[in-house]
Amino acid sequence: MKIAIVGAGIVGVTTAYELASDGHEVTVFEQRSAAAEEASFATAGLLAPHLLNPWAVPGFGHALRLTGAHATLRLAGGMGRANLAWLWRWRSAARQHSAPAAALERLAQYSLARLKTIAIQHELDFEACDGRLVLLRSEAERQALQPALQVLRDAGVAVHEIDADAARKIEPGLSPEAPLAGAIHLPDAWAGNCRLFAQLLRQGTQGAGVQFAFGTRIDRVSSSPTGVAVQGEAELRRFDAVVLCAGMASAALLPALGLGLPMTAVYGYSVSAPLREDTHAPRSSVVDMAQQISITRLGQRVRIAGGAELAGAGAEHHTPTLQRLYRTLNDWFPGGAQLSSSLQIWRGARTMLPDGAPVVGASGLPGLWLNTGHGAGGWALACGSARAVADLVAQREPEINLDGLGIRRF
Ligand SMILES: Cc1cc2nc3c(=O)[nH]c(=O)nc-3n(C[C@H](O)[C@H](O)[C@H](O)COP(=O)(O)OP(=O)(O)OC[C@H]3O[C@@H](n4cnc5c(N)ncnc54)[C@H](O)[C@@H]3O)c2cc1C
Repeated sequence: MKIAIVGAGIVGVTTAYELASDGHEVTVFEQRSAAAEEASFATAGLLAPHLLNPWAVPGFGHALRLTGAHATLRLAGGMGRANLAWLWRWRSAARQHSAPAAALERLAQYSLARLKTIAIQHELDFEACDGRLVLLRSEAERQALQPALQVLRDAGVAVHEIDADAARKIEPGLSPEAPLAGAIHLPDAWAGNCRLFAQLLRQGTQGAGVQFAFGTRIDRVSSSPTGVAVQGEAELRRFDAVVLCAGMASAALLPALGLGLPMTAVYGYSVSAPLREDTHAPRSSVVDMAQQISITRLGQRVRIAGGAELAGAGAEHHTPTLQRLYRTLNDWFPGGAQLSSSLQIWRGARTMLPDGAPVVGASGLPGLWLNTGHGAGGWALACGSARAVADLVAQREPEINLDGLGIRRF
């Protein structure tokens, strides 16, 4: 089949890889000049297990505070009615525990297995590291995590509840002064550089015949006839199928097709800093559960990520949030990273549906497939979502059960 993909973020690139592997003729349309320039640019790097990652599932393991110095979600200027409606739905998903947590974790595990296969097969070196500690400052935090831990255990994920001494043996760089009450050790967790992986895979798929049309914006997606309208072109470009992987822009492209998804952009930040002192830096990834901040070792750099704000796309960087990232790094790994120079500071959008899960599969319209809305987990979920969509396009039963991840739930 002749297939168009809209978007060359991590989701679009992995989808192109899977469809091309199945023998399809694939063209990826991307408005930017390279792959992974938007939400996939500087993610925290966390792969599966997914449920304990910051912002993975509404209300899992952390209370939602909207005011005060410790607000989990900052409501800034530039919020519209759609943002407020989303917030209301997000809060009710949290209260009713209606997020498809088990389905999400299943997809994350499947994705990790698929990612490992791809990485080994094509010898992709994407600064991967394994093992994760979820750091707990109090016994109350451990209690709050129990529902999420149960879902992980039910999914067959190795979960070890350990004390502070055991945690320090796993991450010897943890400060002795840090307020560590204990940790959850996830020995099979992985992390890695999302953008690097996307770029390596883009190079590989391009070599294998996938066309990448960079600097090409899609103004409209059409179902009957199936195709895409490229900005500045009068004629629709016809394809047998279109897969929408446009991140936040998917929400803008769907209404013309009579479809809608209640997506919003929850902005977050990451700071990538050169390693300063190896023995004081994390060996792998850690998550500060109370702060919803992660610290990840990516090769010769340390990346701190967190913050969540509902604000306009062009809003200024929020200095107190960035200061919180630096403070958290200093709490756990003082001296581990060089914060005085060569910093990469990034603000990116998590394209979030109210229940934290993406839409993967048929749109309900002929020829149009959806792989979008991956929220806080696009990197963790991309390879599995991509394989599942490729199977559906080929009219094969996906290896993974996609219940709870379809558009019908909205
Ligand atoms: C601070 C932060 C930390 C994060 N950490 C993690 C993490 O640790 N693990 C994890 O799994 N996820 C993480 N995420 C989430 C992750 O970044 C996203 O879920 C993921 O990058 C989404 O990928 P995507 O391909 O759907 O979107 P994008 O990467 O945004 O790709 C969409 C692409 O579509 C293109 N596009 C849009 N409209 C058009 C158009 N009309 N025509 C042509 N091209 C178009 C865009 O230019 C863009 O390149 C984090 C996010 C943030 C903000």
